[in-house]
Amino acid sequence: MAVSERPLIDWSRVDTVMLDMDGTLLDLHFDNVFWQYHLPARYAEHHSLTEAVARERLDPVFSGNAGTLSWYCTDFWSDTTGLDVVALKQEVAHLVATLPATLPFLDAVKRRGLPAWLVTNAHPDSVNLKMQRTGLSERFDHIVTSHALGHAKESQAFWARLQDCYPFDPARALFVDDSPSVVAAAAAFGIGQVLALSEPDSQGSVREHSHWPTAATLADIIPDSA
Ligand SMILES: [Mg+2]
Repeated sequence: MAVSERPLIDWSRVDTVMLDMDGTLLDLHFDNVFWQYHLPARYAEHHSLTEAVARERLDPVFSGNAGTLSWYCTDFWSDTTGLDVVALKQEVAHLVATLPATLPFLDAVKRRGLPAWLVTNAHPDSVNLKMQRTGLSERFDHIVTSHALGHAKESQAFWARLQDCYPFDPARALFVDDSPSVVAAAAAFGIGQVLALSEPDSQGSVREHSHWPTAATLADIIPDSA
């Protein structure tokens, strides 16, 4: 970083660190492989379809439910596909991995004495699978799923419920996510500092976030000790 460049995050104005899970702490490669390849392949196999026909049937379900609680609900996908989606995820669970900056970032946040919250749209079944694979759960002061609060992070109702359940000062919170619609919702609620990540998948393409402060990964905002 050039000396004249302003840091992306003003850590002196942060009391609470809220972090998305998939694509922020964990490599989105798992989710991309699962949704783009593994589920369509298993769906085709189960219903005796070609993969092309399977994709034709699944694509409208994907696009029609993006950003809703259903999209993030393993029960919804099991009902829709006739497959045991939790078991299917186990089949590719070896791909669950933290992104390289995750542990150094969480260590630095802890050294600074700040609470770290995991704030995710993922279904509790998926959170459990990923916490088991990564051993990250003990590093968070709270693990909050939108499923438990009844609204997806894209909704203002999610943020209002979050504040009811776990009181915090929005103005002194930092929220990091790779989804632009979620970052927009957090900013609209009044989260003081938001950051969009542009490299959620270690093996995927870069995401553009024109409206929000953007970093490639958490590696770019690791705080110094206070
Ligand atoms: Mg994400």
